Amino acid sequence: MLFRILGKEKFRSLIEVILESNEIIAPKRVGSNASGEPIHQFLPIDAFDEMDLDYRTTEYSAKTYFLPYRENLCSFNLDDGDWQQEISYRIQPRAIIGLRAYDINALLKLDKVFIRNKFPSPYYVSRRENTFIVGLDHDPLEDEFSQSMGTDIVTHGFDLFLTDLGDRYFVAIASDRGFNLLNRVEVREVTDDDTNTYKEVRRRILAGFKTKINVHNLPNLLDLEFTSEVWEKWGKKCLSCGSCAMVCPTCYCYGVNEEVSMDFSKATRVKQLHSCNLLDFAEVAGGHNFRPDQQTRLKYRYYHQHRGFVEDYDEPKCVGCNRCGRVCLAGISPAAVIKDLYEENL
Ligand code: SF4
Ligand code: SF4
Repeated sequence: MLFRILGKEKFRSLIEVILESNEIIAPKRVGSNASGEPIHQFLPIDAFDEMDLDYRTTEYSAKTYFLPYRENLCSFNLDDGDWQQEISYRIQPRAIIGLRAYDINALLKLDKVFIRNKFPSPYYVSRRENTFIVGLDHDPLEDEFSQSMGTDIVTHGFDLFLTDLGDRYFVAIASDRGFNLLNRVEVREVTDDDTNTYKEVRRRILAGFKTKINVHNLPNLLDLEFTSEVWEKWGKKCLSCGSCAMVCPTCYCYGVNEEVSMDFSKATRVKQLHSCNLLDFAEVAGGHNFRPDQQTRLKYRYYHQHRGFVEDYDEPKCVGCNRCGRVCLAGISPAAVIKDLYEENL
């Protein structure tokens, strides 16, 4: 990894250079919550001043720019007994600015599923390869537990990663395109003073984690606690709304439908993200539902995050952002559920 120092006044030039040939997605203030705190989302911007890098978090992750909630996989035209299939991949260059380390780690997990798996997804690959990523370090939120999940730092999966040193950014460069782009604005070599300030900032960030969860041996604990009352306790509260999966940067379960025109001349195959908490998630032909109640569906989501994914990829799927805990109207959060599971075993 290479490191450089970028003056804050040069950061604007960097964004303008990126804007010349990319659509830019960045944190944008979209309103305030009931306590007057700003709400941010990752949205397209046309100018530097539209983004707000002082954001704390975004309600939704940037997952939608890689796995849209709804996308056409292909369309069919049937004519004179013949048919043609049309498939289009997104190849327009895009840049996402200001992603947190946990959100980049979330993308690395999705890469394992959609790029490095036996059957890579060309739709995901085309978006991922054409997206330039500029990460940004941050002071953790009270309820964030990314440090417990080992996702508070990131060493690859981005092009540039910035740490705010006050009047300048400490920039980690992880790709050729990041290096070439940075060379178009004025940067300088890192001095000992910069390195020491960077280490101080990292120590401050580390000390800022207030929520810590114990995930030691969690996959085995989940196997032991398959019939625990913890699932009933939290399952009874669950509203089966699916919001947790929608805001989660790593939930990727989906369904595929074929929509056919009334005259059978056209059809479209549509992929739509799903949530394992929704009532029909495990319903099969004939109407049987393998998970008819909230508690088994809620449990399934936790088993996929912390048990099934570990078996397949040697790491949990959850990155500890706690977006799911914040959006849940029933007050269900991973920190509370996992703490209960451990307390069952004291
Ligand atoms: S856990 Fe919360 S957000 Fe998720 S489906 Fe249940 S009520 Fe909705
Ligand atoms: S904390 Fe919740 S939203 Fe964030 S990665 Fe884990 S399960 Fe997903």
